[in-house]
Amino acid sequence: MKSKCVFEKADINVLRSDYSNCNYLSDTIIRIIISMNSICSFKPLDKPVSHLYFFAMLFIKRGNLDQLLESLTGDYRVYVPRSMGDGTGYSLLGKSDTNYEIGEIRSFDPLKSFYFLGREKVAEDFKKDILRDDKPPCIVGAKACDLKGFKILDFVFIDDEFGDPTYMKARENGLIISADCTGVGETCFCTAIGIDPWPESEYDINLSPVNDGFIVTMGSEKGLDLVESNKNLFIEATKAQVKAIKQNRSTIKSGVMKRAQEKRIPVADRLKRVIKKKFESDIWKDASEDCVECGACNTICPTCHCFLLYDQKSDGKLARFRIWDSCMIHDFARVAGGENPRDQLWMRFRNRFDKKFSYFPEVLKEIGCTGCGRCIAACPGKIDIREVLARLEV
Ligand code: SF4
Ligand code: SF4
Repeated sequence: MKSKCVFEKADINVLRSDYSNCNYLSDTIIRIIISMNSICSFKPLDKPVSHLYFFAMLFIKRGNLDQLLESLTGDYRVYVPRSMGDGTGYSLLGKSDTNYEIGEIRSFDPLKSFYFLGREKVAEDFKKDILRDDKPPCIVGAKACDLKGFKILDFVFIDDEFGDPTYMKARENGLIISADCTGVGETCFCTAIGIDPWPESEYDINLSPVNDGFIVTMGSEKGLDLVESNKNLFIEATKAQVKAIKQNRSTIKSGVMKRAQEKRIPVADRLKRVIKKKFESDIWKDASEDCVECGACNTICPTCHCFLLYDQKSDGKLARFRIWDSCMIHDFARVAGGENPRDQLWMRFRNRFDKKFSYFPEVLKEIGCTGCGRCIAACPGKIDIREVLARLEV
């Protein structure tokens, strides 16, 4: 009973600094905890842990992962990344379907699209809410930059008196099987925002690719239960595999840092100051010159969350729909009477940066950008957020 209590309250730093406080835990268990913490962040669970799976380093072969995912299709809509051109995009896993790639970097489509749909019916015939009645999503291969986007989305759609019921339901019932990045994308700069290219939170289980399979870590009770109920699919990881993962993480992180440094992006804790200092600068007019106001930078972004509500007839009933909106579009902020506080394109352009790098750090202590680089790839005007940030620093 004593050790159970310690697992509930365990603080890895205390364990690391003072083994003598934990003499009722065996040395082996202490070593497992410490080695686990050395490759992932430790997060104590809310409920008592009655077994040691949470602390073990497990390994799953690709074939066994295929089996696990197939079994999940009974309870979830399982979305897997598949090769598309020079990257990956998500689609539903079918029966006996093993044609998927965990992917070197994030997919083309942002994770938000499974929780906050691009277009969704939210009310009908003046009823209060409409909840999606389909199975919850299980997202496979989600990367750290997308998972960090939940910090902003949860703040907007959950942490308020008026939570969004469809978003909350998908977040609560969904499953996330995340994965480390194993490559550096042309437009990636997560490290400049203070994010490591491997998941540290918001996942149920995480996969770190090694050899012909993955090292598995558990990040939630749901993940723990999943592993426990499929324990025949997992084996204990070897020391060599754990070492290989650490090496991979270090190599990828250095690669992203190098790319970010080449772009001269201001360091994360300077971004807010830089935006404030250059708020009245002419840079905004100049940098937005090639913008065609398409809104792609907003819709592709894992943290952008603005939406528009409109009513229309659907199946003979009056229905209310919610669609993604974009603060780059002229009429986004227009109010009754035709007034528009951000009438000029450069003002809207500046507002996008201000919200991500100044407003959210101020109200949430989080940057509203995760360095995923999707907006750079999507922009038809070839506007590069990294270059704009570097210009502001000068
Ligand atoms: S602003 Fe661009 S780089 Fe930052 S999270 Fe959004 S899409 Fe990714
Ligand atoms: S994607 Fe580029 S062109 Fe389109 S609104 Fe954003 S900055 Fe402008």
